[in-house]
Amino acid sequence: MPMPHYPIICYRQGCGQLALYKIAARWSDGITGELKTYALSCEACLPEFFRQSREKQKTCRLTPGEVLEAPNIFRLATGQHDRNLERQAQLEEKLTADEGNRPAG
Ligand SMILES: [Zn+2]
Repeated sequence: MPMPHYPIICYRQGCGQLALYKIAARWSDGITGELKTYALSCEACLPEFFRQSREKQKTCRLTPGEVLEAPNIFRLATGQHDRNLERQAQLEEKLTADEGNRPAG
C-alpha cells in the first residue's frame, strides 16, 4: 500500500508529532507475504514503540507455515511504496543495545 500523501502522525496518543519511522515485521504464510505494521512513530517515541513491537512479535501466535520476522525500523517517506522504504538497521542495533544495557527493574 503506498503511503498517503498527507502528514502521518505518531501513533502515541497525545504526541501529535510527525511520524518519521515505521516499525514493521515481514510476515509470510509461505504463499503471500506482507509487511505487518506495528507502529508509526516520531523520533522521541521510537525506542518505546520498538520495544513494544518486539514484545508483540515474540508473543504472536502463528499457525504452521506462517513466518513472522522480528520487527524492523523503516524510515517513512511520503509517496513511497512499502517495499521501497529504507530499513534503519543501525538504529535497530542501537535501540536493541540500549535495551540490553539498561539496569534490570
Ligand atoms: Zn511520538
